Amino acid sequence: PYVGPSAADILAKRRQYLSPSLFHFYSRPLHLVDGKKQYLFDVDGRRYLDAFGGIATVCCGHCHPDIVKAIVDQTNRLQHSTVLYLNSAIADFAEALASKMPGDLKVVFFTNSGTEANELAMMMARLYTGCHDMISLRNAYHGNAAGTMGATAQRVWKFNVVQTGVHHALNPDPYRGVFGSDGEKYAKDIDDLIEFGTSGRVAGFISEAIQGVGGIIELAPGYLPAVYSSIKKAGGLTIADEVQCGFARTGSNFWGFEAQGVIPDIVTMAKGIGNGIPLGAVVTTPEVAKVLTQRSYFNTFGGNPVCTTAGLAVLNVIEKEKLQENAHIVGSHLKNRLTSLMDKYEVIGDVRGRGLILGVELVTDRELKTPAKDETTHVMEMMRDNGVLIGRGGIYGNVFRITPPLCLTKEDADYLVDVMDYALSKVQQPAEITLRFLLC
Ligand code: PMP
Repeated sequence: PYVGPSAADILAKRRQYLSPSLFHFYSRPLHLVDGKKQYLFDVDGRRYLDAFGGIATVCCGHCHPDIVKAIVDQTNRLQHSTVLYLNSAIADFAEALASKMPGDLKVVFFTNSGTEANELAMMMARLYTGCHDMISLRNAYHGNAAGTMGATAQRVWKFNVVQTGVHHALNPDPYRGVFGSDGEKYAKDIDDLIEFGTSGRVAGFISEAIQGVGGIIELAPGYLPAVYSSIKKAGGLTIADEVQCGFARTGSNFWGFEAQGVIPDIVTMAKGIGNGIPLGAVVTTPEVAKVLTQRSYFNTFGGNPVCTTAGLAVLNVIEKEKLQENAHIVGSHLKNRLTSLMDKYEVIGDVRGRGLILGVELVTDRELKTPAKDETTHVMEMMRDNGVLIGRGGIYGNVFRITPPLCLTKEDADYLVDVMDYALSKVQQPAEITLRFLLC
């Protein structure tokens, strides 16, 4: 049994000593002590299916023995800064990562987080082009340092510090966007932004292929090819932020951008790539990478032996356990089952995403798409009470984000949907029951 500080003690210390901006999920915050595969355990030994932590920390499952062993062995041998001396861990992981990239994307820079990776990517685009103007999408999240906060485009994450240098384009959102699923129509907005908001030359364009924080919005088909061609014409570089949708998560591909048939100039990644260890990376072409020879670029812990050993172990586990294939098979099954809940519950406005990055948007009116924020909160709380943890996001906070570790099984997926079904039945009478009631 757990012996240690109670949830109340931890909350009191958080309030006194930690950032006042810290927030937690659930009205009764969850006090977790153990993790194993796709499951988490609280102080009382209750088990939860972790259907959210896959992006945040674990793509291969909590405390995967191969990854833990690799980290422990390397920690016992040597942990150090990255660049000053030779060590094989960073070189081996860079080689393995480069082998997963298409085209000429072969040069890897390591960082400690997604924010740092995107800061570096945007800086390289600016140095390479000699331009400052970047374009990102409304509803994007790219980080919380000065430059990336400028690229992030949701009011809730922005502080009035550095907002300049980034133009925010119309979001190619198939559900709420004005042009539905016509990616090419949204892409025209990029041409307009370049025409009216810049000198005609830009540093680049950054986007996710599936927006995570934004509420699992898969960019409308045809969008990225059209935009990449406009950006290239304006002399800019294209950056794919794969922090959430990369690393086998979409199942159909290893990288999110691949579904749109494009090859970016720069790819960034973080979160799950270290399975819980702080690790980020930027991959680009030798030609773009050269810009960093203009000065000295240094990151004390980016790519340190322990973190890159973890990264390599993650890639090996993805391969050995066929996790990309699993994301495809289990993710398709899960999406089908979630979609079938739409017949039963009017409150589900949309089910979307691919592989194991799925979203379920709740609305009080399907025509008006009015966000069902309270219902989202209730269902999330009730699912937790029944042993399933999911995330939420979207500009209105009404989208469930389902991003479990990639080892999720079909049985887990069924359990998740059954629990969501039960929770939804408590916030909305299933359609057939409403109908029977009306007929009486
Ligand atoms: N890009 C995307 C798409 C993200 O979702 C996040 C984190 N939510 C980041 C970048 C920033 O990553 P980090 O929190 O590791 O700085």
